[in-house]
Amino acid sequence: MALLTPDRYFSRITCVDIDRDLIGCGRIHVLLDIDNTILARDIREIPRDVGMWLGRARETGVAFCLVSNNWHDTPHRLGAELMMPVVAKAMKPLPPAFLAAMRKLGATRRDTVVIGDQLATDVLGAHVAGLPAYMLQPLVEQDLPHTLLLRNVERAILGDRAPEPVANIQQAEGERP
Ligand SMILES: [Mg+2]
Repeated sequence: MALLTPDRYFSRITCVDIDRDLIGCGRIHVLLDIDNTILARDIREIPRDVGMWLGRARETGVAFCLVSNNWHDTPHRLGAELMMPVVAKAMKPLPPAFLAAMRKLGATRRDTVVIGDQLATDVLGAHVAGLPAYMLQPLVEQDLPHTLLLRNVERAILGDRAPEPVANIQQAEGERP
């Protein structure tokens, strides 16, 4: 796999079809980025539709571990709130955090996928660790200055690749707050 090419590309986590894109692919363990993947950078909250999607995925048998480069208390606060294991200060794209998260879940490379919004951390890190990566468009435009700079590189690498169309668009839209 090309290191900087996401295996799948979605506009939002709710566009990942839990049955088809996770369970159906045998990917029952998800190493999940936080900032601008499930937590909007501007309002510091999990959008309602994202929270509902996480709940549904867990009911269906998908297990998550939060993996974040964030050095503040956000990952642990969120992990407690969502009752999910956490690997913070992850230093993605380096592999140790992904491997630690897999150990927390009892996961293997065959049943794990990384979901995140950044090429240089989530996608590259997943591939270096030997895992597939589902990339999302960031929840909001607002982000850290160095991340915004990297977005230009991402745009150059992704070119005109568009996020995948939603299979059941009414369902996804209906869940929007
Ligand atoms: Mg992120």
